[in-house]
Amino acid sequence: MLRESVYREEYQPGTTVFREGEPGACAYVIERGAVKLETLRNGRRIAIANLGEGQLFGEMALIDSEVRSSSAVAVEETVLVVIGLDQLRAKFEQADPLLTFFMRNILERYRDTESRLLGDPMKPATDAPEEAMLGAGLTLNRHRERAMRELKMEEEINQALGRNEFALYFQPILDLKTGTTAGVEALVRWHHPERGLLYPADFIAFAETSGFIVPIGFWVLEQACLALHGFQARLAEVNPAAPPLFMSFNLSSRQFSDIDLVRNISNIIDSIGVNPEQIKMEITESLLMDNPARAAVTLNGVKALGLEVAIDDFGTGYSSLSYLHRFQIDTLKIDRSFVSTATLNAGSMEVVRAVAGLARNLGLDIVAEGLEQPEQVTLLRDLQCDYGQGYFFSEPVGPECILERISREHGGGNVTPLASA
Ligand code: C2E
Ligand code: CA
Ligand code: CA
Repeated sequence: MLRESVYREEYQPGTTVFREGEPGACAYVIERGAVKLETLRNGRRIAIANLGEGQLFGEMALIDSEVRSSSAVAVEETVLVVIGLDQLRAKFEQADPLLTFFMRNILERYRDTESRLLGDPMKPATDAPEEAMLGAGLTLNRHRERAMRELKMEEEINQALGRNEFALYFQPILDLKTGTTAGVEALVRWHHPERGLLYPADFIAFAETSGFIVPIGFWVLEQACLALHGFQARLAEVNPAAPPLFMSFNLSSRQFSDIDLVRNISNIIDSIGVNPEQIKMEITESLLMDNPARAAVTLNGVKALGLEVAIDDFGTGYSSLSYLHRFQIDTLKIDRSFVSTATLNAGSMEVVRAVAGLARNLGLDIVAEGLEQPEQVTLLRDLQCDYGQGYFFSEPVGPECILERISREHGGGNVTPLASA
C-alpha cells in the first residue's frame, strides 16, 4: 500500500543509517547531504562508495531479502527519503516476471562478484525475517520459472491465432418482456493444445500486457460478425418479421487505446457486410475514465460508424454518474454483483432500481448480467430492466446452439421459460 506522504529521516554527521549484516526493510534516496558505504572484510574497513544528492542506496536488501552487505554512515547533515518495503511490494508483485528475474539475476551476480573481490562478507548479525522481505519465498529459481512460463505463454499465444486455437462462444441476451433472444455476447475461449479449454481469466490479462490482445480482438470481432451473419440468416428463415439480433463484443484497455481501432472495426464490418447498428461494443467505466478526452474521441469515431456502445460491469468501476451524458452510450449492463444480491439485500435492490431509473431518464437500455435464479429474473423485469443475461437462460455456448435456439424460439418449439411474475 502506498504511504500518504513521503517519509524522511535526518542524520547528523557520523551517525549510522544501517549496519552491515542487519536485515533491511527500506531503501533511501539522498535528498540533501552525503553518505558513505563501507564494509568490514577480514577485519579491514573498506570504503565502497561516497554518495551524494539524488543517489539511491539500501535497495539490494529490499530486492533479494539478503542482509545489508555494507554499512551506511552520514558524512554531513543529511536528509533521506525513505522507500519502504510496503511501497515496493505491490509494484514488484505486478512487475513483469522477466524483469524481476533479470533484476534478481543481476543482483545475485553482483553480490557474488563483490564477495569474491572483497573477501568473505561479515556474518549476519541477525537472521533476516524472511516473510517481511520483498520477494520472500521467491528464490532466483522461482523467478526463473515464472519468467520461463511467461516466455512460453508468449510463444504459445503468438502461435494460437495462426493455429486456430481460439474459439468464440455466445451467450444469449434475452428481451425480458418477450422472453426471446434479442442478441448475443461473444466470449472468447482458447483451446490450448496442452492445458485444454482456457477461459478469458486464464489469458486475457496476459494478452493485454503482452499486446497480443489487439490481433486477438480483431479476430474476435471478425468471427463475431461472421457468426452474426449466420444467426441473422437463420432468423430471417424462421421468422422474417422478427427484429434483427445484435452481437456484443468486449474490448479491453489496450484495444481501446489502439489508434487504428476505428479504422480496423470499419474494415471488418465493411468486409463482412453486417449492419453496424447491430454490433455493440462493450467497454468498462474505468476504460473511459482513464483518459476521458481520448475516450470521447474514440467513442465518437465508433458511434460515427453506426455501432452501439454498452458500459459493461456497470457499478463496479468509478461509478461517476457525471460521465454518462458526456459520452455517446446506448446501454448499461448492471454488474452481476448487484443482480445476484438484489433479491437478498435491500441495498443492492435500491442500487438496481436507481440505475434502472437513471438509464430510463437518459434513454439508455439496461441489461441485467448474471441472472441465475428465477426470482432475480422476476425482480429485474419488475424493475423495468429491458434485457437479461445469465446462466438462468443459458451459459455461453457454441454457434450451433444459438442457431438451434433461434429456430426453437421462432419455430414454435420450446422457448426457455421466463420466471413467472
Ligand atoms: P464479461 O464481459 O462481464 O462477460 C460475462 C462473464 O460472466 C462471462 O465469463 C460469462 O460466462 C459469465 N457469466 C454469464 N452469466 C453468468 C451467470 O449467470 N453467473 C456467473 N457466475 N457468470 C456468468 P467469461 O466468458 O469467463 O468472460 C470473462 C470476461 O472476460 C468477460 O466478462 C470479459 O470481460 C472478458 N472477455 C471475454 N471475451 C473477451 C474478448 O473477446 N475480448 C476481451 N477483451 N475480453 C473478453
Ligand atoms: Ca461483457
Ligand atoms: Ca460484464
